[in-house]
Amino acid sequence: MSFILVSEVGPRDGLQAISRTMPTASKHRWIAALADAGVKEIEVGSFVSAKLLPQMADIAEVVLRAKTISGLHVVALVPNLKGALAAFESDIDKITLPVSVSEPHSLANVRKTHAEMIEQVRSVVALRNERFPGIQIEAGLSTVFGCTIQGVVPDDDVIRMAEAMAEAGVDEIGLADTAGYATPVQVRRLFHRLQKAVGELAGSAHFHNTLGQGLANVVAALDVGVTTFDSSMGGIGGCPYAPGATGNIVTEDLVFLLESMGLKTGIDIDKLMVARSILQEALPGEALYGYLPSVGLPKGFTYAEATA
Ligand code: ZN
Repeated sequence: MSFILVSEVGPRDGLQAISRTMPTASKHRWIAALADAGVKEIEVGSFVSAKLLPQMADIAEVVLRAKTISGLHVVALVPNLKGALAAFESDIDKITLPVSVSEPHSLANVRKTHAEMIEQVRSVVALRNERFPGIQIEAGLSTVFGCTIQGVVPDDDVIRMAEAMAEAGVDEIGLADTAGYATPVQVRRLFHRLQKAVGELAGSAHFHNTLGQGLANVVAALDVGVTTFDSSMGGIGGCPYAPGATGNIVTEDLVFLLESMGLKTGIDIDKLMVARSILQEALPGEALYGYLPSVGLPKGFTYAEATA
């Protein structure tokens, strides 16, 4: 394992948590700058009702423009079958279906019980299989490491839901720390169990930095072989249904961590700073986080060597 996929979720997870709406042209400039820095996968938004999240009202156009960037893997979040149809018709590369392991969170977030959610995932997979066979479907299991509503979420519940998702026919199953409660020991244990339960389908890690454990959790996940990490530029974002949950782990700091560990990301940190300045310009006054952006690269820093 020497290449790690950094999947940027700022345009979705970040922007949905900010009440202001970023203009479509700014979104495109930001996404293009991220891709230019070497980011290979970007979650560009979500196919949700514009009434619910006006920040995402332009999603179809954002996807259309992102698809013109050569080599970029374009992803969107999709909460239901209606959103899935719109996403599939936009010629997206991959959709992520958020599935709460905490049932109270599921009811608050998408107003669905577990049984209803599993049924919905089955319908989305059936639609894909029938009409859009090239598009990938990821189940993003959320509230995996604890929930602001339910509290403790038992490991067995996570694995049971992962198995249900595998049975429903998704291509990939990721684990998300929606509340920001995860600790490294828990991360190692759960990803290990996930891999044992669903094998090849075990996917990405999605951490928030709410309790400052985000990068420690990345190292723990690397220890058990996770190779895809979600992060957001400037650490913007959070979960509107997890009160108190602040942003995702910071892309800039994540790339520095990985490269300094000898793990190639293909991302140029200087160019990442260009993308960050576009983000800051598009959202003047918005708090952006991260250590690397304020300190800069250590003197003598070298990127990880490419290995075949
Ligand atoms: Zn998140």
